[in-house]
Amino acid sequence: MQELGHFIGGEHVAATGGRSQDVMQPMDGTVRGKVALGSKDDLRKAVENAKAAQPAWAATNPQRRVRVLMKFLDLVQQEMDSLAELLAREHGKTIPDAKGDIQRGLEVVEVSIGAPHMMKGEFTDGAGPGIDVYSMRQPLGVVAGITPFNFPAMIPLWKIGPAIAAGNAFILKPSERDPGVPMRIAELFVEAGLPKGILNVVNGDKEVVDAILDDPDIKAIGFVGSTPIAQYIYSRATANGKRAQCFGGAKNHMIIMPDADMDQTVDALIGAGYGSAGERCMAVSVAVPVGKETADRLVERLIPRVEGLKVGPSTDASADFGPLVTKQALERVKGYVDLGIKEGAKLVVDGRGFTMQGYEDGYYMGGCLFDNVTSDMRIYKEEIFGPVLSVIRANTYEEALKLPNEHEYGNGVAIFTRDGDAARDFAARVEVGMVGVNVPIPVPIAYYTFGGWKGSAFGDLNQHGPDAFRFYTKTKTVTSRWPSGVKDGAEFVIPTMN
Ligand code: NAD
Repeated sequence: MQELGHFIGGEHVAATGGRSQDVMQPMDGTVRGKVALGSKDDLRKAVENAKAAQPAWAATNPQRRVRVLMKFLDLVQQEMDSLAELLAREHGKTIPDAKGDIQRGLEVVEVSIGAPHMMKGEFTDGAGPGIDVYSMRQPLGVVAGITPFNFPAMIPLWKIGPAIAAGNAFILKPSERDPGVPMRIAELFVEAGLPKGILNVVNGDKEVVDAILDDPDIKAIGFVGSTPIAQYIYSRATANGKRAQCFGGAKNHMIIMPDADMDQTVDALIGAGYGSAGERCMAVSVAVPVGKETADRLVERLIPRVEGLKVGPSTDASADFGPLVTKQALERVKGYVDLGIKEGAKLVVDGRGFTMQGYEDGYYMGGCLFDNVTSDMRIYKEEIFGPVLSVIRANTYEEALKLPNEHEYGNGVAIFTRDGDAARDFAARVEVGMVGVNVPIPVPIAYYTFGGWKGSAFGDLNQHGPDAFRFYTKTKTVTSRWPSGVKDGAEFVIPTMN
């Protein structure tokens, strides 16, 4: 039984306050260990430690800072197998999928190695007589990240990489459901040479989150999780004068045009709809075939593929997906399937009754497929976050486009077509932050930025890519004048460049 406290100043530290929670193993429903639910005092200890360590780190030249990241990448590669197994056992996803989770995080650390370049300022020589203007980017100081259960390696690394490369100290509050990998990541950074205190992990729930939101020494908060919490964190953090970027839930549509390659489309939908049991913010949860004939062909091909999905324990590398993260999540998703039937949608594949032989206490369900879903149903409007795909039939392209455009969420969207003109029109007019053209999960590569629109994101800068460096640094602009001028006497008119 593992007991996780906090990781502060490069060491494991016991929590105060006495609260803790079980860490489960979703594939068989057993208890793996306990994680501390930290207190305000625990958070304060981490902040003070980070605050003391940060100035020396910021003063370290950026090339030396990023050498720590290079070493970290090596250490993770050496430990990839055991990290992926730990991740799969705590989260429920399969081991190959867990490796993808880690890899997509490492890619942002790789891009963060470009910090010396990303942090360069601008310079104008001779902006006025004897006047030069230049800008520089400086770290904010102590910053924090609050992350969800569904990518316990990738999302913490999306935040830690750019924040520490830019010279900040970072406090991570990972999901209390799968804290093991984030804690190991922090240890590996210290092994890679990161000064103690530059990355502290404080485990916990709302109590620690609220302490982060109110702490005067934390200058910025990067959050990823569900929309109601994203909205709450954004309002409270910004009311307290902090920078905040808060990414929320999703309902991602895939539009299937009559000319789409149907084999490719069905493969894409199966992977994007059911991979990781649908617990991805970029999962496709709504398929929108255009025209009756397209819809009939699509549903006819999807049915046997959904029925044939292989559900298995997280340690079975041949499984398509594993269990859901918790018993409550399983009950919630099954509840949505019950609701869809009541609302009048047609359940053409029912995975609710699935049990995994030998793992009867695990949180499994099979894939579910709904046809004839309509836009007024709750199963369409709300995020289900499980292996449930809804087909909503559109008569025309315009009718299909209207669906993602009018939806509350705007994270990802895709169009499958052979028509370049339709694809261009779609990319230009769709009201969604990340668009795929014949690509079902358009998570941008690490040197672009990631972020949704509408109810999927609060704040104005995206995650990773150049935006991450803007978010975790502040700009200072210097106007300098050499060598004469001041001694000529005071000037009472505002200086201009005329
Ligand atoms: P969640 O909102 O329940 O939890 C996210 C974080 O907030 C956790 O660290 C949790 O401890 C904390 N938290 C939970 N309740 C809180 C409260 N009342 N007050 C303060 N803090 C609280 O989300 P989750 O279930 O861990 O993750 C799944 C959600 O995350 C889905 O909605 C998914 O779409 C979303 N997500 C979004 C993105 C994105 O980039 N847009 C990426 C991944 C996941």
